[in-house]
Amino acid sequence: MSSLEQTLSIIKPDAVERNLDNEIKDIFKNKGFKIVKEKKIQITKLEAEQFYKVHETKPFYVDLCAYLSSGPIVVMILEKENAIIANRELMGATNPKDAIEGTIRKKFGLSIDKNSVHGSDSIDNAKIEINFFFKD
Ligand code: UDP
Ligand code: MG
Repeated sequence: MSSLEQTLSIIKPDAVERNLDNEIKDIFKNKGFKIVKEKKIQITKLEAEQFYKVHETKPFYVDLCAYLSSGPIVVMILEKENAIIANRELMGATNPKDAIEGTIRKKFGLSIDKNSVHGSDSIDNAKIEINFFFKD
């Protein structure tokens, strides 16, 4: 079954810092994603802690929040049939070392923490994450 979905994508600081944001946006567009909304922002550590609250018990949580707030990011609402799973597939595995050819993390990811992109992992989380960055 297919349904038109929206998902939240973030181009993380390591990719924005290397000026890869336009190249990554082109990859999404070429794969049929519509960029419904986008903005380049820098979030505070507190905002990163709220965004990644689901990971608050994980050993990498503190570093992860420091990292996501360390520089500009590009946040986007992406729309496509089955956007959530399609985006997860296009992103590739969390650890770029495990990501397959043709994925964004394989191409651009530097390490498990500096893995260039974020994508929502479920319909519920997509709604929460879209609302987090685009409240209006
Ligand atoms: N992360 C990390 N170390 C780990 C696992 C995850 O630094 O051992 C970071 C990584 O940047 C990842 C983010 O935490 O993208 C969120 O982890 P998750 O398991 O949700 O991976 P994702 O959904 O981003 O693939
Ligand atoms: Mg995740």
